[in-house]
Amino acid sequence: MQNTLQHTALDVEKVRADFPILKMQVNNKPLVYFDNGATSQKPKQVIDAIAKYYYEENSNIHRGVHTLSQRATIHYEFARETAQKHINAAAVNEIIFTRGTTESVNLVAHCFGKLFIEKGDEIVVSEMEHHSNILPWQVLCEEKGAVLKVIPVNENGELILEEYKKLLSDKTKLIAVTHVSNTLGVINDVKEIISLAKQKNIPVFLDGAQAVPHMAVDVQDLGCDFYCFSGHKIYAPTGIGVLYAKAKWVEKFEPYQVGGGTIKTVTFDKTVYADGPLKFEAGTPNMEGAIGLATALNYINEIGLETISTYEDELMQYATEKLKQLAGVKIYGDVKHKAAVISFNVNNIHPFDIGTILDKQGVAVRTGHHCTQPLMQHFNIPGTIRASFSFYNTKAEIDIFISALEKAIKMLS
Ligand code: PMP
Repeated sequence: MQNTLQHTALDVEKVRADFPILKMQVNNKPLVYFDNGATSQKPKQVIDAIAKYYYEENSNIHRGVHTLSQRATIHYEFARETAQKHINAAAVNEIIFTRGTTESVNLVAHCFGKLFIEKGDEIVVSEMEHHSNILPWQVLCEEKGAVLKVIPVNENGELILEEYKKLLSDKTKLIAVTHVSNTLGVINDVKEIISLAKQKNIPVFLDGAQAVPHMAVDVQDLGCDFYCFSGHKIYAPTGIGVLYAKAKWVEKFEPYQVGGGTIKTVTFDKTVYADGPLKFEAGTPNMEGAIGLATALNYINEIGLETISTYEDELMQYATEKLKQLAGVKIYGDVKHKAAVISFNVNNIHPFDIGTILDKQGVAVRTGHHCTQPLMQHFNIPGTIRASFSFYNTKAEIDIFISALEKAIKMLS
């Protein structure tokens, strides 16, 4: 095993000590966790923050005059500010807490669709989208008689921007694309996508689920109308996510779900809804999730997103080179501009078979279509093996993965 990370600023052993689960053995082998694209592991700082909330603060927020309720409210709203700063939103009221990326897409499809989509309108997505950024738009189009248009990808798994340009017309009402592909790791040129859309005054929704864990994101610099991500992919708990919506949309949109927490006044004749994000956060929200999310964002900011990006990039380059040395390996989306994800297949071996044998050796990767069936159809494959890295992974783990893979190939060939 080779020593890791002498050339970067990241102290990986210190970082690894923060993640209790990384010490586990799986199938009597040290766990090598390369399924970070599906969900990340949690540092003890996040686990402790959630435990502290239940030990010392648990109380319902926003409506209590008592001390615990006020404390919980302050922490929940402080988490909103932390999320705002993290993606550099202009105002805290532009941050809506949701259950995650999927709910964020559904929220915007519902609210935007209700007010602005009519028969014959067009919504543009891309061929590489996660199902969560296809289905809500597909359903909206079916309901309204609108048309879903698709930006194709080329053989490298990059969006074909020339084709995107051709799709833009007076009928186009919204563009919804992913910032980073969960299957390929390809980073899309979202600035160009937004700039072309802006020339025609078309709002842009970005799915940031796979971008936010790997790079600094500045929504004002990007100029998007909507941006979303999931807590669980960024070292925070499940069941919490962030939807950024420009203030004008927060103001215009009607509530997505209604109930307690969304209102100013209710009578049997008329309800007046709250201003700002509370209008969309019906019912008792995920307080501990928000607190865990803020803790996770602070945690990665302490390490620094540039340090994280540089380190993860090093891991990805290292793994890519090693994989390319194995006969029969085909990498999908092998481009320069990508985040720490590698999708590949080996000859005609089914990805599930390789994944199962890797697991027996303690190596966790994801296999299958990664909720991107249209992209699999594009490549004419049932699925891929996806290794996705985090800053707590090491080159030594990549060595283990490669030798486990060699064993699997030998057994299955
Ligand atoms: N979009 C992308 C790009 C994703 O990677 C994922 C999760 N795999 C989702 C959307 C859905 O996220 P969630 O399940 O957290 O709602």
